[in-house]
Amino acid sequence: MYDVIVIGGGPGGYAGAIRASQLGAKAVLVECAEMGGTCVLRGCIPSKIWLRAANLLDQSRKAGDFGLNLTVNAVDFSAILARKQGVSNDIRMGMEALLQNNGVDVIRGKAVFKSGTKIEVDGKPVEGKNIIIATGSMLDFPDTPGLREAAFTTDQLLDMTSVPASILITDATYLGVEMAYLLCVLGSKVTLAVPESRILPSEDQDTSQRIAQSLRDRGVEIIARHTLESVSKAGAGFSGKLTAGGKERIVEVEKVLVSGRKPNTDGLGLEAAGVKCNADGSIQVNERVRTSVPTVYAAGDVTGGAMLSHAASAMAICAAENCMGKNSKFPAHLVSRAMWTSPEMGSVGLSEEEAEKKGYEVETGGFPYSINGYAMLRGEVDGAVKVVSNAKTGEILGVHIVGANASELVGEAVLAMQLECTVSELAKGFRVHPAFCETVVDAARDAAGWALYLPKR
Ligand SMILES: Cc1cc2nc3c(=O)[nH]c(=O)nc-3n(C[C@H](O)[C@H](O)[C@H](O)COP(=O)(O)OP(=O)(O)OC[C@H]3O[C@@H](n4cnc5c(N)ncnc54)[C@H](O)[C@@H]3O)c2cc1C
Repeated sequence: MYDVIVIGGGPGGYAGAIRASQLGAKAVLVECAEMGGTCVLRGCIPSKIWLRAANLLDQSRKAGDFGLNLTVNAVDFSAILARKQGVSNDIRMGMEALLQNNGVDVIRGKAVFKSGTKIEVDGKPVEGKNIIIATGSMLDFPDTPGLREAAFTTDQLLDMTSVPASILITDATYLGVEMAYLLCVLGSKVTLAVPESRILPSEDQDTSQRIAQSLRDRGVEIIARHTLESVSKAGAGFSGKLTAGGKERIVEVEKVLVSGRKPNTDGLGLEAAGVKCNADGSIQVNERVRTSVPTVYAAGDVTGGAMLSHAASAMAICAAENCMGKNSKFPAHLVSRAMWTSPEMGSVGLSEEEAEKKGYEVETGGFPYSINGYAMLRGEVDGAVKVVSNAKTGEILGVHIVGANASELVGEAVLAMQLECTVSELAKGFRVHPAFCETVVDAARDAAGWALYLPKR
């Protein structure tokens, strides 16, 4: 009998199994495919390898500003693919070694629930006092007529040997936006047509506008409030029929990106354990990431929500601690988001609009990259930091960064919010100079009412 059974070897399951073992559990991890999950094999790591190549290419186009006369002769797709494979393999092997090092048993095969404490893996029973489900997510293929033939999935994109000459992307979230940036930099003609009134609808309006402008500057056409109704063959490519309020618009493309995700509970036999799901198929969990069955926990993409790797790991750590008798809560408000576009995006917490809707008296502070010395000397002046705070208490409710290194800078904001520091406390800090991170303190000073380097309000 195991103390903890973990189903899934992605970033969630991996972290959960190691944490359980650290706390003295006899733990086992069951994985039906390769270790690493979506993150290492088909998600974060491969996509960021492609985005790194795109960023370098994008930056090389500005080399002349620094006195460098560079010419990029060609993009070697097979070299990028080899690098992607190499890095993914290294990470996967590191994960396998660390599981072994922590004494976690690994069983290869597909887990199926038999009860709240028992699963079967390829017909063989495995019992545990607690079970953590970390089975992740899978591609959500919409049933749009004609789409199958035109589809270019994120899996295909990450293995591409050339870019489509033109592509229609209908995903307004960070996945669709990152892919729009990547493909346009590599030479595709990209149309980003989204049903919402703007791209990145769950981010702060300023973030959405800045990223949209940066995409337009690179030639991406953005069409808001349009839904893809159907796709049909048109010459060598396809014609996508978009509709908005009864009006039609046709976009001719070579491919249509399919990037949506849905929780993966396929064939898991949740009914046998009595685990309840939400209407969208995600597993219901409470703040301790416990499901409707006291011995069963769930973490990561399978619970829906943000569907991000670091959230998956943090949830699974919380699950493992609770399995081992602790009373841990998952701090959902600290899940940061990022995009490796150019400029990058990094954010955490509430947008200004969300904070207002929740009834807060909102104070915001901002600081543009255009007057940060480091951004100026680096020629990366596109961007800004925005701090959203509670005007009455100074509590930091959210921080929204668009600009170089935003995916790293947002860590400052996460720490500040984790330690419940106020804008005044963040404003009192100081940072290395010259550096992008100075902008976070400057934005906090603005929110606290004493911005030093901005004109008086
Ligand atoms: C293109 C792309 C780019 C992304 N980029 C980012 C990014 O930059 N940053 C970020 O934070 N997130 C990113 N994500 C999301 C991220 O990959 C996921 O949030 C993360 O992998 C979720 O981790 P998980 O452990 O919940 O599930 P997964 O990583 O999906 O792992 C689940 C594992 O469970 C296994 N499994 C499933 N069912 C069973 C079963 N019955 N028995 C045994 N094993 C089973 C699967 O084989 C899989 O290995 C991206 C996703 C995609 C598709």
